[in-house]
Amino acid sequence: MPDHPIHATVDGAVVMIGFGSIGRGFLPLLQRHVGHDASKLVVIEPSAAACADLAARGIACRQVALTPDNYRVELDAVMTPGAGFVVNLSVDTSSLDLMRHCRARGVPYIDTVVEPWAGFYFDTTDNAARTNYALRQAVRDEKAANPGGTTAVSCCGANPGMVSWFVKAALLRLAADTGRDAAAPADRAGWATLMRDLGVKGVHIAERDTQARLAPRPRGTFVNTWSVEGFIAEGFQPAELGWGTHETWFPENGHRHDTGCRASIWLDRPGAITRVHTWCPTPGPQFGFLVTHNEAISIADYYTLGPVDAPEFRPTCHYAYHPADDAVLSLHEMFGSGRQQEAHHILTEDEIVEGIDELGVLLFGHAKNALWYGSRLSNEETVRLAPDQNATALQVTSAVLAGMVWALENPGAGIVETDEMDHARCLEIQTPYLGPVEAHYTDWTPLKDRWQHFPEDIDESDPWLFRNVLAS
Ligand code: NAD
Repeated sequence: MPDHPIHATVDGAVVMIGFGSIGRGFLPLLQRHVGHDASKLVVIEPSAAACADLAARGIACRQVALTPDNYRVELDAVMTPGAGFVVNLSVDTSSLDLMRHCRARGVPYIDTVVEPWAGFYFDTTDNAARTNYALRQAVRDEKAANPGGTTAVSCCGANPGMVSWFVKAALLRLAADTGRDAAAPADRAGWATLMRDLGVKGVHIAERDTQARLAPRPRGTFVNTWSVEGFIAEGFQPAELGWGTHETWFPENGHRHDTGCRASIWLDRPGAITRVHTWCPTPGPQFGFLVTHNEAISIADYYTLGPVDAPEFRPTCHYAYHPADDAVLSLHEMFGSGRQQEAHHILTEDEIVEGIDELGVLLFGHAKNALWYGSRLSNEETVRLAPDQNATALQVTSAVLAGMVWALENPGAGIVETDEMDHARCLEIQTPYLGPVEAHYTDWTPLKDRWQHFPEDIDESDPWLFRNVLAS
């Protein structure tokens, strides 16, 4: 990138929470593109090693783990009331509590997931209580109870986050390619109507990560391209998906919700061992894992037409994730052994020797069958674009940058999800960091390219039924 435009400016303290793989990658983008007083930049982070790294960069680190007891005091010690910004890139902190406190102080806020306090993911066997539906609905209820006010952007990473902007870009592309009006609708109902009228039945968040290093994965080490802790936590949550109006069958282990937006269902099975048939440009057909994600619910909710409990239209929507091959082996070892590996490793940009993170949205069921729209960012290109991160992280950190700029441009927007933001403005900021952003049509369906030797529970009347997508 030849120059680094300043997109927006923060008055007061920028407070980052967490300096892991995403925090480390976000810092240089913040320094490049957001005007701020460097002497007021502070990172809240419990790890001594991360604080030492920050000290070497001349950046203040407050070495503490936020807890339900200390977060107000710790934030008040560093925030600038009525100004500044809080960027939450940590694990084990409650996004809801943090955003509520920031908004009470008039400080804009952004995060990349609805994160709970430590314990949420594993301390109960009540699987309905461990869903992302429960986490997201609490934030939606907070928004409904306290509309407007200081902007807090919820779930603005790559996914959840950027992929919601890709859904809108893909809808406009599909509209143009099928000879329809390709102007952006003005509101939520307009977008949902456009999706329905285009005949889209559903969306896979279809990802293939091929980043790899030379050394084979050591047995007993969980290797991933982003937070191992975060991936294990979400992988152990029940599989969840937005449940579309075209579905004619209901999974035996499926459960609906009877309060809230009701856009999704959950399966009584961990997402990281629930396989689905999906498609990405590099591999073509592939298995993905139906790992629960906020966007599976938010997208299904955003594009719902009609009453929430009897919708006229709603797309099926879920994540279909093929992580890096080392992460697939790590999952296999972990679920097979019944225990988490003690050693965790996030592949760094300088040890990765090949591969891309191909992350997009597969809009299916329409006149042109299926359209994949997304970023195909290589680690090699990432190293040229920005320091301190691999391709996976750059797709996330550049979305955080875009969301932060949008929040500064829209300071009184209240609590928002990425579906509710201006996708064109956000992608304008983010796209220089995404490598090739491409649209690919495919004639593949979940009924094609399957092994034919064994009986399967399929319904050939509509290839895009979840019954056919779910691998037996
Ligand atoms: P990481 O595990 O590399 O880093 C997390 C950091 O949080 C660590 O430095 C850790 O010390 C710190 N931390 C732990 N407990 C804390 C506490 N109580 N208070 C403050 N800090 C604490 O994770 P990462 O890969 O950097 O991911 C960060 C967050 O971003 C995670 O929540 C992850 O799920 C999320 N994420 C979102 C996306 C997306 O696309 N939306 C993608 C990747 C990661």
